[in-house]
Amino acid sequence: METITMDTFDAMPLVEPLHQALKDKNYTTPSPIQQEAIPQLLTGADLLGSAQTGTGKTAAFALPILQLMHEKPRERQRKQMRALILTPTRELSIQVAKSFAEYGKYLNFRTALAYGGVAIKPQIEALREGLDILVATPGRLLDLQGQKQLDLRGVEFFVLDEADRMLDMGFIQDIRKIVGQLPKKRQSLFFSATLSPQITRLAGSILTDPVEVRIAPQETTAENVDHSVYFIDPARKLATLIDLLDDQLDKDDSHLSLIFCRTKSGADHLVSQLNQHDIPASAIHGDKNQNARQRTLDKFRKGRIPVLVATDVAARGIDIRDVTLVVNYDLPNEPEAYVHRIGRTARGGLKGRAVTFGIGGEFKELRAIEGLIKKPIPVETDHPYHDDGLMRRYQSFGSTSKGSSFASSPGRRNKRNRGTSFGKR
Ligand code: AMP
Repeated sequence: METITMDTFDAMPLVEPLHQALKDKNYTTPSPIQQEAIPQLLTGADLLGSAQTGTGKTAAFALPILQLMHEKPRERQRKQMRALILTPTRELSIQVAKSFAEYGKYLNFRTALAYGGVAIKPQIEALREGLDILVATPGRLLDLQGQKQLDLRGVEFFVLDEADRMLDMGFIQDIRKIVGQLPKKRQSLFFSATLSPQITRLAGSILTDPVEVRIAPQETTAENVDHSVYFIDPARKLATLIDLLDDQLDKDDSHLSLIFCRTKSGADHLVSQLNQHDIPASAIHGDKNQNARQRTLDKFRKGRIPVLVATDVAARGIDIRDVTLVVNYDLPNEPEAYVHRIGRTARGGLKGRAVTFGIGGEFKELRAIEGLIKKPIPVETDHPYHDDGLMRRYQSFGSTSKGSSFASSPGRRNKRNRGTSFGKR
């Protein structure tokens, strides 16, 4: 199928009430994901979107859903909804519902929220007479259904938002249960910041012949991040990290350090090792509940814990000005995550440093990152753990590869890889 891109909202075949709402918000230029996704979704296609928060993905799915519902009105049925949007967290649910309310302000749709940690009764009340749009987290949705207060048989539009985070938070079974009850005939949209094989499999079980839109995180590294790679023996990772952190802790209290591990258990293990060496550190990852994560983040932000150990998904969106050191203790699975990780430092115009541990066995991943950012990461040799032999092996390892590995995505009619900017290109 040929892709038609529309680089202004005026050029998009949206109905007047949506155009008006966009004008009220002063949006003139659709972001790349909006340009790609909106025309496709208006044709009824399923969509696999690889995009992070901040790319404008909410409007990319909310606008076409609102339009399609508006064009084919249907009477509300008790306990039913026409559009179901599943998100991993209460915060995201609230944000998504707010977007539907803003973009749909001149249309007459009823939207409600269902998330845990608050009284269920008002949510039951909201569902009783039927809804147009329900934005929910998986656990509470299943609770409501268990209490026979919610009926999924009327769903025409299904959106799974931040799927990778859902999996990281252990929602996979809940998602399967929910999807199993949706009508077969529906339009499904699946968004995830990363596309691991597990995510791709899940997408394949939900979508039918989807259009694929891939919006890469900005493929440049932030100007004022001083990034480098340390070639070291894996057995010396901890000692190297402790040296780096000791230097940080010798500075004043406002210097925070963020350490990335690949797995949740790796993050926990590293925290206990650091604590044993009298370095105050905490972990945030998807096994911790939302409140615990928030508490840890608040303490980090205030400098009460100077070192935070995180997995990629838990660290998404962390915007803390005083982070002056990022350490990639493990390399990320996806090269795109490198850019995201090191972008957690040098915020608000400050300078920051990002150190990546280069060890044997991870050369391919390192090359993929360099391929993505289109330049080598400078090597730091001036430290006691530098392994010259390892560095030389890396230098003769393969040539710079293209970086991204999305070869096994489900059926694709169309594939794009664009930047995130909202401006005109
Ligand atoms: P999202 O990625 O959906 O979380 O959106 C990120 C932010 O960009 C939100 O604050 C949106 O309101 C805003 N936004 C979305 N689309 C546009 C657009 N086309 N022009 C300007 N801002 C936008």
